[in-house]
Amino acid sequence: ARVFVLKHPWQGLPKVSDFEIVEETLSDQLNDGEILAKAEVLTVDPYMRLRSVPGQPLPGGQVARVLKSRSPEFPEGSQVYGFFGWRDLTIYKPDPNGPRSYNTIHRMPEMKGLSDSYALGAIGMPGNTAYFGLTEICKPKAGETLVVTAAAGAVGSVVGQIGKIKGCRVIGFAGSDDKVKWLEQDLGFDVAINYKKVEDLDSVFKQHAPNGIDCYFDNVAGDFNYHVVRNMNPGGRIAQCGSISTYNADRSKIPMVPFDYPTFRVRKVIMEGFQVNQWNDRWFEGLDQIRDWILEGKLKVRESITEGFENMPQAFIDMLQGKNTGKQIIKV
Ligand code: NDP
Repeated sequence: ARVFVLKHPWQGLPKVSDFEIVEETLSDQLNDGEILAKAEVLTVDPYMRLRSVPGQPLPGGQVARVLKSRSPEFPEGSQVYGFFGWRDLTIYKPDPNGPRSYNTIHRMPEMKGLSDSYALGAIGMPGNTAYFGLTEICKPKAGETLVVTAAAGAVGSVVGQIGKIKGCRVIGFAGSDDKVKWLEQDLGFDVAINYKKVEDLDSVFKQHAPNGIDCYFDNVAGDFNYHVVRNMNPGGRIAQCGSISTYNADRSKIPMVPFDYPTFRVRKVIMEGFQVNQWNDRWFEGLDQIRDWILEGKLKVRESITEGFENMPQAFIDMLQGKNTGKQIIKV
């Protein structure tokens, strides 16, 4: 098996030289409950910047084909979703204490003809992040105004489209003119804005959210949020999903950012952080709903595809810099 290992602690934006491929010899004997699986599609996600450990394989999910099996649940020839890390071949050993987030496997969602790779994106963890974070924390109602950041990414593009399904006015922020065009012309966002060109965020909100912001799905954090809070309506809800604007910073030196406490308090805004795995017991409810919206033509999916397992580090680096539109995946 080939396994990507993080050579040393990150310093700023990851570099290709931070990774090394280690060859691992796998046993040719399986024990009861074990499977041998071969990666078909892999994913790179922002959390890997935070959760990788020097000297250890990089964490991550994959869609894999079962080559050999001694598990009735995952028969030979079937596909599985496995949180196996950045590796091309895996012997999955069930944990006697049950699956945990770092040693997990589950059946594939019922794809009904859609691409298997969606199981790592819209019909996978990022899709559920959008679905549950938005519906359970922002609780959007028809006619409300929703703001979403990293809007052209895996999570954000689904958030905005669910916002439209729920009848909201949706305002998305993304980092290029092409992304903004895609959001407005193909995905039906009411307004999309290239945040890199914004000089005065407050006046952007005054212009495009004249009735105030009711829901904010926050993927980015930083001082952007100061201006969002100032423009929120009484009873507004913030789903604090990610803070990618700080992921490449030295964690001991994350910049202090302003926050408008008086407005936050007087308008009784609610901000709730979440981790998508808190909805593990409803996992397939979210995936099945998103899949059905795709099949009904209500939700569109886009992927940025990198070919070749060996190109995973570059795909990861590119994604952190916004070179992806939609979900970044790797086909082996
Ligand atoms: P994306 O597909 O959105 O890729 C990351 C995007 O972030 C890039 O394309 C880039 O787009 C944007 N970005 C990078 N740097 C900055 C910056 N400094 N300021 C603003 N935008 C930036 O990734 P995901 O959809 O997988 O993840 C989106 C967010 O959701 C992340 O913060 C992630 O950590 C979080 N998340 C949280 C989960 C949870 O359980 N709480 C689960 C899954 C994801 P652009 O060109 O627009 O800059």
